[in-house]
Amino acid sequence: MDHFLYRGGALHAEDVPVAEIAAAVGTPFYCYSTATLSRHFRLFDEALEGVDHLVCYAMKAASNQAILKTLAALGAGMDVVSGGEYARARAAGVPGERIVFSGVGKTREEMRQALEGGIRQFNVESEPEMVALNEVALSLGLRAPITLRVNPDVDAKTHAKIATGKSENKFGIPIARAREVYAEAAALKGLEVVGIDVHIGSQLTDLEPFRQAYEKVAELTGMLRADGHDIRRLDLGGGLGIPYTRSNEAPPLPTEYGQLIKDTLGHLGCELEIEPGRLVAGNAGILVSEVIYLKSGEGRDFLILDAAMNDLIRPAMYDAYHDIVPVREPAPGAEQAPYDVVGPVCESGDTFARARMLPPLAAGDLVAFRSAGAYGAVMSSEYNTRPLVPEVLVHEHQFAVIRARPSFDEIINRDTIPEWL
Ligand SMILES: *Cc1c(COP(=O)(O)O)cnc(C)c1O
Repeated sequence: MDHFLYRGGALHAEDVPVAEIAAAVGTPFYCYSTATLSRHFRLFDEALEGVDHLVCYAMKAASNQAILKTLAALGAGMDVVSGGEYARARAAGVPGERIVFSGVGKTREEMRQALEGGIRQFNVESEPEMVALNEVALSLGLRAPITLRVNPDVDAKTHAKIATGKSENKFGIPIARAREVYAEAAALKGLEVVGIDVHIGSQLTDLEPFRQAYEKVAELTGMLRADGHDIRRLDLGGGLGIPYTRSNEAPPLPTEYGQLIKDTLGHLGCELEIEPGRLVAGNAGILVSEVIYLKSGEGRDFLILDAAMNDLIRPAMYDAYHDIVPVREPAPGAEQAPYDVVGPVCESGDTFARARMLPPLAAGDLVAFRSAGAYGAVMSSEYNTRPLVPEVLVHEHQFAVIRARPSFDEIINRDTIPEWL
C-alpha cells in the first residue's frame, strides 16, 4: 500500500497534486511519501514485536538525508556499506550504536572511521578482512564488535545480479567453514565476536529461501555456542521483495516474514537485526517525467520521455518492470494502445518498457513510474550531462525539495582544468 492515489482525476502524493510539484520543480524528479516510508518501516518493526530487535534500514536503497532523518525519528538503525553511507547516517543523527557496517570490500580507512565514530558491529565477509579489522582496531586500542557473514548456499530465486546467497557469489564465508573461521576470529584480540550475519539477496518473492537460510543459521548458532562463542546477536539481512506490478502475485508480507523469523530463530534468546531496504523505500517513491514526443515507428509507437536510463537504471540493468501511470487520471474505459517507452539517451538500452499498454498520451503530459523509491535516485548518474534529478519529499499537504537539480554551471565547474591547458 502506498500514498500515491488519484483524487479528483489527478495523481496525488499524499495531499499534494503531483502536477503541482512538477510545475514548481520541473521534470523529471523523484517524489517520496513520508507516510508510505513510515508505514513500511513500522510494518517491519511491528512484525518483530515481542523479541529484542533492531530494524536497520539498508540505506543504499535511498539515502537522502531527509529520508534517513524520517526513519531515524521512528527508531531505525542503519545498515551502511561504505564510509560515505556511514558519514550520511551520522550526519542524519543516527548514533554509532545503531549502525551496522556491511560489504565485501571495507577499506582500512572505512574501518578506522567507523571504529572512531562508534559502530554497533561490522559484518565481516572474509578472513583477510577479519585480519585487517583486527589490526586497525588494535592500532586504535579498541575491540571491534563483529559478526561473520555466512553464505548459506541457498537459491534466493531472484534476478542473478541481486542473488547473494549461493556459494558461487562473492559474499560471505561458506557456512561449512564457519566454525573454523569463528575459531580464528576468537583468537584475534582486536575483535569481539557478537553474532552471525546472513543476507541472501534482494527482491525475494517467496519465504522459502529465507526459511532455509534461517534454519541453517539456527543450527550454526547451536554449534558455535557449543564451541564456546557468545552468539548473542543474529543479523538476518534484507531482501523481502515488493510488488512491482499490481497484477503480480503478491510477495509475502512483513508480518509473515516476521513470523518466519520468530519460528526459526525466536527460541535462541538472541537479539535480532533485519536490514530491509527495498521494501521500506520502494513503493514510497515515484519518478515523474514529461512526454517530449510521440513518435510513430514501424509497427510501433514510441513515447519519448524527458527521463532516461541515467535517472532510473533498473529496467536497463535488471530488466525491471515499473508500472507507468499518467498523472492525469484516464477517463473510465479509455482505450489503451501499446507504446515503447524510451528516454533521450543515445543507447537502445535506454528503454523503460516495450509494447506497454497505456491510455492515450500526448506531448506535454506527465507520467509517473511507480515503485521507484528504492535503487532509483541512488543509482542515477549524469550520463549525457543530464543533471541529477531532484528529489522531493511530501508530508501530508507539504512538499520540499530535498536534493536540488544542479545547474549546468555547477556540473561543469566540478571539473578542473590542468594548468597546461
Ligand atoms: C542490499 C542489502 C540489503 C537490503 O536489501 P533489500 O533487498 O533492499 O531489502 C540488506 N543487507 C545487505 C548486506 C545488503 O547488501
